[in-house]
Amino acid sequence: MLPFTGNPLNRASERRADAAWIAERRQRGLILPLARLQVLVSGESVLRAARVRAMEEFAGAPSVFLGLEGEAALFAVDVSACSDAAERFAPHGVFRELRAAAALLDLGDLAILSQAKAMIDWHARHGFCARCGAPTTPGDAGYKRICTPCGAEHFPRTDPAVIMLAICGERCLLARNKAWGADFYSALAGFVEPGETFEEAVRRELFEEAGVTAGEVTYYACQPWPFPSSLMIGCFAQCARSEVTLDGNELVDSVWLTRAEARDLLDGKMAGRRGPFPAAIAHHLVRAWVEGRESSTDS
Ligand SMILES: [Zn+2]
Repeated sequence: MLPFTGNPLNRASERRADAAWIAERRQRGLILPLARLQVLVSGESVLRAARVRAMEEFAGAPSVFLGLEGEAALFAVDVSACSDAAERFAPHGVFRELRAAAALLDLGDLAILSQAKAMIDWHARHGFCARCGAPTTPGDAGYKRICTPCGAEHFPRTDPAVIMLAICGERCLLARNKAWGADFYSALAGFVEPGETFEEAVRRELFEEAGVTAGEVTYYACQPWPFPSSLMIGCFAQCARSEVTLDGNELVDSVWLTRAEARDLLDGKMAGRRGPFPAAIAHHLVRAWVEGRESSTDS
């Protein structure tokens, strides 16, 4: 299973509009606190999301109903307004950046925290109406924001992005973005634009960033990536020619690797180059190709 996928909660989305049901669950449910978008985790070799009994002092804090875990209702709660949140929640865990903690987190909890982080982040960035500029208020247990003056409703956004492994014969293309470490190579990626399919986005991005013309594009798997709100759509793109012309804006180097070389890169055995981390879909995309598992998977 890909990291960030496989959320085990029952989102019970049919109950979100039932304000009385949500309020009652909120009072006696469990909260997952976030402080300045950092998540509360506990544990050592394997981290877990800290689940804390709802507290009166945070009853009015911004919150989102995440779903049911058995009988327990879980809520993400933004405790950023609490100046001593770290001390207040110290008995339950420590606040960590989700991206940094991802590699150590239990996979189910990583998916839950991904949902929590993406939702709290969305609320934090969408306090005003995009249509008229007035302040908005949350509704449906955190799954929309309402603008009373103009009547607009705003919903949590997910931004689709393609991430693709270009294949030419028996080699795959990895590149280095100038924003990354000097030895870090990964698959190419970019956002899907309005009016575009993900296959079209793959071809456009490959040509735009690397001057590579892709033919057949096949879907592999997708991964929620809450930094802040992407859905990474992993694809393979077949290319007839391997000439590369880097755009120079984002990509500053590229390399075509054989399956054996790509395996070494993933396993940290290639001198002078590092590959994508196991938490990221790019790692799994390359691994699947290395192992001949290019067919589509439901994570
Ligand atoms: Zn408005």
